Amino acid sequence: MMALLPIRTFGDPVLRQRAAEVTEIDGKIARLCDDMFVTMYDAPGVGLAAPQVGILKRLFVYDIGDGPEVMVNPVIAETDGELEFEEGCLSIPGMHIPIVRAERVHVTGRNLDGNDVDFEADDLFGRVVLHELDHLDGVLMLDRLDPDTRKQVMRELRRMADLAAEIEPVTPVTPGAPVTQAASKPAFGLG
Ligand code: ZN
Repeated sequence: MMALLPIRTFGDPVLRQRAAEVTEIDGKIARLCDDMFVTMYDAPGVGLAAPQVGILKRLFVYDIGDGPEVMVNPVIAETDGELEFEEGCLSIPGMHIPIVRAERVHVTGRNLDGNDVDFEADDLFGRVVLHELDHLDGVLMLDRLDPDTRKQVMRELRRMADLAAEIEPVTPVTPGAPVTQAASKPAFGLG
């Protein structure tokens, strides 16, 4: 059974830790990836790193329109260029910020079959790879901002959190009562 996993959000300490190498790509890892895909597509996002669902392992899933892919133990071999690109993050819902990163990345790692993968990525793909790789090191897109912009964004995050707390409906759950689901979903996020 595939399951929707809760996505950890900003403030959760798990997002600030370095994830450990995957030592064995087994059935447990495959099931985790299945659940991560379900969670990513539901969000919706184009990428999702294991720490975002509370698992400190070095892997992420993505789909930039060419089908689902898994990257295990990814390592950046080389980067070049520089590109500003508006990013969202499923762990920082509602925030879209222009972030400067390398334009191209050459990355190596393994896929879910345990085979070596080695490719270059640019544009949206490059951005997804760099964004998700940061999650494996406990780094968030906010950390890529200059100090002044970061301060502004943090203020906005606090304002949004206060607003969310105010409008949070306090509904007592009565057995048999129809369950209403919150309609708010994070906007399109990289992962
Ligand atoms: Zn993210």
